[in-house]
Amino acid sequence: MELCLCPLCGGDRHYALPVACKLYGRCLDCALVFMAPVHRLDDAGEKAVYDGHHNEVDDPRYRAFLMRAFGQVLAQIPAPASGLDFGCGPGPALLAMGRESGYQMAGYDKFYADDPALLTRQYDFITSTEVIEHLAEPGAVLMQLWDCLKPGGLLVLQTQRVLSDERFRHWRYRHDPTHIVFFADASFHWLAQRLGAQLSLPHPDVAVLAKARIQP
Ligand SMILES: [Zn+2]
Ligand SMILES: [Zn+2]
Repeated sequence: MELCLCPLCGGDRHYALPVACKLYGRCLDCALVFMAPVHRLDDAGEKAVYDGHHNEVDDPRYRAFLMRAFGQVLAQIPAPASGLDFGCGPGPALLAMGRESGYQMAGYDKFYADDPALLTRQYDFITSTEVIEHLAEPGAVLMQLWDCLKPGGLLVLQTQRVLSDERFRHWRYRHDPTHIVFFADASFHWLAQRLGAQLSLPHPDVAVLAKARIQP
């Protein structure tokens, strides 16, 4: 089994973190934990898992869960404004919540709403809830999303953060076969520095990256 370069920072300095019969690496530069590519599902297998998720647009518990991220938008971006939900999935509840709050919303999803033109536009905010832990190339994707943000814009990412190697070994979040990369606080600090973003971590599952109003 072989590890790859770190899919967030591209670095080659990592240590092996074997858990059960899977191999993970932990990056020494950005602290990302990433699964060895050999364990990844193919696209069809990945989509089959997502097809089994039943998140209803009107489910109050699911909406409360999404509010962890969307609440940051409500607090910081006055409507009307334009937003993209990246990885909106088959039951786009966050799109509905955004529209109900007066935002102009677009939703992109590799499997359910694959319109690449949406990733060439610019938005006042971008949300991505429970998505980035599924990305084989999170670094490239996050750079692309950052380019889709207007000056003064907000990138709001919801994913559970890895706390320590020991906790990682016993972590339920790891058991989802489509979860392949795991961010630590330090990974978001690395990302913010790379992007020149202002970072806040307002919730254990939420990271907010703000783009300066005037670009240097
Ligand atoms: Zn890294
Ligand atoms: Zn997930």
